Amino acid sequence: MQYRINPRNGDRISALGLGCMRFPGPPGRPDARQARAVIARAVERGVNYLDTAYLYPGNEACVGAALEGLGLRDGVFLATKLPHGSVRGAADLDRIFEEQLRRLRTDRVDYYLIHNVTSPSQWEHLRAAGAEGWLARQRAAGRIRQVGFSYHGSSGDFPVLLDAYDWDFCQIQYNYAGERYQAGTAGLRAAADRGLAVFVMEPLLGGRLADRLPPRARRILDAASEPGLGSPAAWGLSWVWDHPEVTMLLSGMSSPGQVDENASVAERALPGAMTPRQHEVVARVVAEFERSNRVPCTGCDYCMPCPRGINIPGCFSAYNASFAHGWFTGLSQYFTASAVRTESPKLVSNCVRCGACARRCPQHIDIPARLAEVGRRFQPGPVGWALRLVTRRRG
Ligand code: SF4
Ligand code: SF4
Repeated sequence: MQYRINPRNGDRISALGLGCMRFPGPPGRPDARQARAVIARAVERGVNYLDTAYLYPGNEACVGAALEGLGLRDGVFLATKLPHGSVRGAADLDRIFEEQLRRLRTDRVDYYLIHNVTSPSQWEHLRAAGAEGWLARQRAAGRIRQVGFSYHGSSGDFPVLLDAYDWDFCQIQYNYAGERYQAGTAGLRAAADRGLAVFVMEPLLGGRLADRLPPRARRILDAASEPGLGSPAAWGLSWVWDHPEVTMLLSGMSSPGQVDENASVAERALPGAMTPRQHEVVARVVAEFERSNRVPCTGCDYCMPCPRGINIPGCFSAYNASFAHGWFTGLSQYFTASAVRTESPKLVSNCVRCGACARRCPQHIDIPARLAEVGRRFQPGPVGWALRLVTRRRG
């Protein structure tokens, strides 16, 4: 395993971290046995950073039980996140944190993040609730070691947030298809210039730069035939690790095999290791990827559940697939995502535009409007009427 040093406190962190959000299992109920197998293999391969969050349903408890069962708590850096929207006052900070420690079966959190910050005003809200004093007390008591935030806001707001508090680290979305998206490359450099450790999330855009890369883009990578870059995932991860400003990247690995694959890449992907030719290949892939990336959904599920039962990420995935893989492939995926062949289909036309989903989307997607586009693509005119008729009859 390759390790990088946290410039803030000297922690030696594995370049590959385990994002626990995508453990296998039905929504809200990660499969404990499989999660334990993934964690065990990750640690075996040298991974020493695990990331979870209060808002990932069932996830903190799953991680806590696995670490206790495997006797690994002291061998890893454990990170979790504070849901700032649930904090009204200092009492909420205590209540949430105590619950997190109970779920994680630990007496301390190594890396504590304000979760999904999209605007500096959210930090100001926490500050007004007493967060600065509270964090200072937790640090002094050794219950929180490092304080940071995960970010999904604009590039313009990012430096403002960086300067709003004495952060130890930040976590940004970063990948070769998003150099100018959210914090982007400018944000990466700004954070590193301030001496912060920078952790990267979504290095493969929820798999869209890995197994779900559009075929034409994949063919560019395959044709390049570069040693050590035998898969789209290897290209995507190596591109992030090529940046010396990156301390660690999180991958949401969901099987021991995926851990093995990514850990092998991590061993070789040193800062500055990619050649100019490899960067040129990536630039061509980006151009191809952007042709089919109509909705920038990462499949994070933050918008779910929809009160009308719509599988929002599934519909967007089908929509993008219809541009990457052809209309019929997308339609078939849409039928699966919207359960058309069941007794109670959940078509995008079921959307009542309540807006609950869009408020939770870290990618700031106007979900109701974009679902309407999905409807126009897959339920045009007579097809839409027929589907709605069938839906009503079954209902
Ligand atoms: S706006 Fe539509 S898709 Fe979003 S939660 Fe409401 S009904 Fe569901
Ligand atoms: S629409 Fe937004 S919140 Fe929902 S899965 Fe996609 S990126 Fe996540």
